[in-house]
Amino acid sequence: MKKTKIIATIGPASQEEEILKGLILNGMNVARINLTHASHEFCKDIIQKIRKLNEKYHTHVSIMLDTKGPDVIVGKFENGSAYLNTGDKIRIYMNDLLGDSTKFSVSYPYLINDVKVNDTIKVSDGLIELQVLDKGHDYLLCEVIIGGFIENHKGVNVIGTKLSMPFLSPEDEEDIKFAHEAEVDFLALTHVSCVEDVLEVNDVLINLGDDHIAIIPKIENERAVDAIDEIIDISDGVMIARGDLGVELPFERVPGIQKSIINKCHRVGKVSIVATEMMSSMENAARPTRAEVSDVASAVADGVDAVMLSGETTIGKYPVETIDVMTKIIETAEHEVNYYELVDKAYRTEKQDTTGSIAYSVVDCASRLKACAIVTPTMSGYTSRKISRFRPSCPIIALSPDEKTVQNLTIYYGIYPELIKPIKSFDEMMEKSTTMAKQLVGAENGDRIVVTGGYPMKQVKHTNFMKIEDL
Ligand code: PEP
Repeated sequence: MKKTKIIATIGPASQEEEILKGLILNGMNVARINLTHASHEFCKDIIQKIRKLNEKYHTHVSIMLDTKGPDVIVGKFENGSAYLNTGDKIRIYMNDLLGDSTKFSVSYPYLINDVKVNDTIKVSDGLIELQVLDKGHDYLLCEVIIGGFIENHKGVNVIGTKLSMPFLSPEDEEDIKFAHEAEVDFLALTHVSCVEDVLEVNDVLINLGDDHIAIIPKIENERAVDAIDEIIDISDGVMIARGDLGVELPFERVPGIQKSIINKCHRVGKVSIVATEMMSSMENAARPTRAEVSDVASAVADGVDAVMLSGETTIGKYPVETIDVMTKIIETAEHEVNYYELVDKAYRTEKQDTTGSIAYSVVDCASRLKACAIVTPTMSGYTSRKISRFRPSCPIIALSPDEKTVQNLTIYYGIYPELIKPIKSFDEMMEKSTTMAKQLVGAENGDRIVVTGGYPMKQVKHTNFMKIEDL
C-alpha cells in the first residue's frame, strides 16, 4: 500500500469512465481539473463520474480544481501557429489580431504599461525568449533571443515583473463559487505572488460560507518563493508547480527550491505536492525514462505528500499505465525511506502539547512494535494529520463519520480514510478499528495495530489516548 499520494489531472485522454476507473484502481487519490483548460460542464461530468466510481469501488478519490489566475496568453495565429526566427524583430500587439512570424497579440492589454524596455518575455513554457527593445503606442517591439514554434493561446511569462492585473478576475470568482457548489475538496491557486492573493480567496470562501475547501497555492514565480514561509503558514499546503517555476526562474534552481519547500511543509504539517513532468515521456511511451523514475523516487525519499501528473493523464497515450508505473515506483521507493530521520525532524518542531506528544509516541511505538497499521478514529481529521506529519512506515487508517473529513484526508501522506457510522462507545471504537485494519490492510490474527484519537469523540478537541491492540 503506497503512502505517497498521486494526483492525476483529467483531460481528453482520461475523461471516459473506463479510463477514470483504471486511474482509480491503479492508485489515483485525487482527480485534478485545471479551469484554465476546462469548462464547468466538463468538471461536472468528471466529478459525477468520479463520485459514481467511488461508490461502486468503495474508494475516496477527492477532487481538486485549479483557478485560472492572472494568466496572460497569446492570441490566434494564421493556421494555428508561426515560427519565430532567432534574431528577428517582432511586435506584440495589445489589441486582438491574427498572428504570424512578425507579430502576435496578447490577452492582457495593459501589458504595455507593466513591461519595461530590456525586460524578458517568455512564451510557450519558456521555449521562446524575447527581449523588449521599445514601446509603440499599442505594441511592444521585441527581439527574438530564442526562436521556435509559437501556437494559439500559449502562456506568456514576463520575468521578474508583477503584473498590475488583479489576482482574482470576476471569472475566477465565478469559478470559486462553482467549486463551492460542486463541493470539491481542494482549490489550487494559479500564479500566487503573495499572502494577500491567498487571503483574497479565503475571503471569497468565507463569504460563501465554505469551511471545507482546502487552499493549495501553486508556487510558480520568484515572489511566491520569497514569501514561501508566510504562504505556507496561511494555506493547507502548496504545489511546487515546476512547469512555470522553471520558466520564471533559472530551471537549475528548481530542485533546490523543491527540496526546501517539501522540508518546510513537513516541519509545519502542511501538504506538499510536486508537480509537472514527473513522467512526461509516458505521454508517448509505455515506459518512463530512468531519470523520471529517479525524480519520483527522490520526491518520495524527501517525504513529499503527493506527486502529480499533468500531460501524462490529460493528453497522453498511456494514462492508466502511467498511474500503474508511478504506483510501483512509489511503493519501491518507500522501502528505502529513512523514516527515523523524518520522525526526528517532525519531533524537533512539534508543539509540546498532549496531541503532539501522543502522536510522536504512537509513531515511535508503531515502528518499534512493527504494527501493521495506525488507526485514527477522528471527527475533523486533526489526529490523523498529526500522525501523518510524523511519517510512519505503516499506513494510517482514518475512520470518520464526517464525509468531508474523509474526502480532505485523501491527499495526506499515508492516510487511508474510511467513512463510518457515528461511534457510541470505546469498545465499539476498538472493534471498528480492528475490523477496518483487517479489511483495508489485510491485518490478520497475531498482527498488531496502534489505535489513537480523542475520546469521547465529539467532546474532546485533542488526542487523548493510545491503545496497542494485538489481534
Ligand atoms: C506548473 O506550471 O507546473 C503547473 C502545475 O501549472 P499548470 O498545470 O497549470 O500549467
